[in-house]
Amino acid sequence: MADTADIVVVGGGVHGASTAWHLAKRGAGKIVLIEKDGIASGASGWSSAIVRLHYTLESLVKITMYGREMFGNWGDTVGIGESGFRQVGFLLLFPENEVEHASEVIAMQQGLGIDARMLTNAEIADIEPRVARDDVVAGAWEPNSGHADGSTVANSFIAAARDLGVDVRIGHEVFGVTTDGGKATGVKTSEGDIYAGTVVLETGFRTSALLAEHGVELPITPVRHAIAVVERTPDFGGIHPVVSDRIVQAYYRPEADSLTLLGEHDPLEGKVDPDVEDIKTPDLDEQVRLVERYAARFPGQEAASITRGYTGVYDCTPDFQPAFGSVKAVDGLFMAAGFSGHGFKLSPGIGKIMSDLVMDGSTDMIDIHPFRVERFAEGDPLTAGEGYDNRSLA
Ligand SMILES: Cc1cc2nc3c(=O)[nH]c(=O)nc-3n(C[C@H](O)[C@H](O)[C@H](O)COP(=O)(O)OP(=O)(O)OC[C@H]3O[C@@H](n4cnc5c(N)ncnc54)[C@H](O)[C@@H]3O)c2cc1C
Repeated sequence: MADTADIVVVGGGVHGASTAWHLAKRGAGKIVLIEKDGIASGASGWSSAIVRLHYTLESLVKITMYGREMFGNWGDTVGIGESGFRQVGFLLLFPENEVEHASEVIAMQQGLGIDARMLTNAEIADIEPRVARDDVVAGAWEPNSGHADGSTVANSFIAAARDLGVDVRIGHEVFGVTTDGGKATGVKTSEGDIYAGTVVLETGFRTSALLAEHGVELPITPVRHAIAVVERTPDFGGIHPVVSDRIVQAYYRPEADSLTLLGEHDPLEGKVDPDVEDIKTPDLDEQVRLVERYAARFPGQEAASITRGYTGVYDCTPDFQPAFGSVKAVDGLFMAAGFSGHGFKLSPGIGKIMSDLVMDGSTDMIDIHPFRVERFAEGDPLTAGEGYDNRSLA
């Protein structure tokens, strides 16, 4: 008997899992989710999972507001599993040339009802007295932000989707989207064909190749992003907030009681890697560089010990913004990819948007036109305005 579904979602990261759950919650019919490796085996499983509402684009702030609500109230919203959300706060540290732009972003956030505020150099010490402030001109503070856990979120969405009847197939690879007369008819997989009038691709950097077969251009650069994990010195005291250090382009995010994850903002410099799915640890020099920045910001932490390091996939588009929505060249084909290293916090909202688009043909959360995949072929990339952009925020 033919293998049929109403909707096939491809990719078991946070985005595919979220979309499958949102669709199932809306009673979208028979949904099959296909993942070639394991749930959260891609970027999602390695994610630092920072949840902040600081985005230069208002549309991304709105998507993240939906996510923050869900991460913080998982039991009431999704109901199965958990998000691992910890409200440790999000502290930004700015150099002189970014303060004006930051103030505009904060005003925009406040207009949306978000508890966010600028801090003077002295006020930063009230929030986190342990940071060195000599080279910091101003800060910004979001008390309700923090971090969650990528693997936990993807697996919880999957458990909740399964509970609603989604057929989750792990270890099956999608080789291509099948079409007939410009309409999607399903997918070709390692285990045979599945017939479905709607296909949603949420396959990270691999989305480019799957779309290229249909003449759709989605330039994604696979980038290897390194994390060092340090154990803070015993005299450090309690945990710190997530810190985005824009002076040295690094971030420091607490993990459990005594560990800190160290990452950096510049996603491209020397890190493009077509074999990014192969598991590799960063070399010691790279880890030491991460520790040096952290120790300069938190004096005394040069004595912190590196416990481990790892790397994960960033799927970077030319404008460092995601692409999502319907694919105009193929009726019934949808996609969301190219999250460029900042997609974890967007995943609940993107799942909602994708389910709106599949079910209703539109969404009222944001204007999705600027995020269309066709923008690259049209030479109309997104710009985040003057000043810093989302590329340089985790
Ligand atoms: C180290 C690191 C730190 C990060 N930190 C943050 C952060 O602090 N905050 C934040 O918001 N974001 C962060 N990100 C980014 C965020 O994790 C990603 O944007 C997000 O996880 C992307 O989710 P996804 O579902 O689109 O992709 P993925 O998690 O990569 O999932 C795609 C899935 O598709 C599967 N797949 C691909 N091709 C096929 C196929 N042909 N057939 C079947 N399955 C297929 C893959 O196996 C994979 O499991 C970080 C990323 C990394 C790597």
